[in-house]
Amino acid sequence: MARRYVTAQERQAIAERAKGRCEYCQSRADFATQSFSVEHIMPVSKDGETGLENLALACPGCNGHKYNKTDYPDPIDGALVPLFNPRTQRWQDHFAWNDDFSHVVALTATGRATLEALKLNRAGLVNMRKALFAIGQHPR
Ligand SMILES: [Zn+2]
Repeated sequence: MARRYVTAQERQAIAERAKGRCEYCQSRADFATQSFSVEHIMPVSKDGETGLENLALACPGCNGHKYNKTDYPDPIDGALVPLFNPRTQRWQDHFAWNDDFSHVVALTATGRATLEALKLNRAGLVNMRKALFAIGQHPR
């Protein structure tokens, strides 16, 4: 089984690469009440490697909802599709903001499945986005 432990050096590199934001919901670690996690995109339980190319910065909510999921049904037709992979895909190709930047809008099947699986518009996230938008801190 692959190594699970993420080194301090890897953790710092991942946080810098992610610019301190959850790579799924885009929430900011510097405005979060709990520490962010380093998440295995392909879980260790599914033979995912512990290396920079398989690791992402995730807020506790996204990390918990993702758990060991790698795919999820598209809510439109129920077809199982891969979840968003922040290492091989660009966020803006699969997601956008609504008019007031409070909600994530899915642009693709992968975007819809990920939005649903990780609950990217959780009430606390929406409230935080509205508050940060009001003080010019979202989106950045
Ligand atoms: Zn998140």
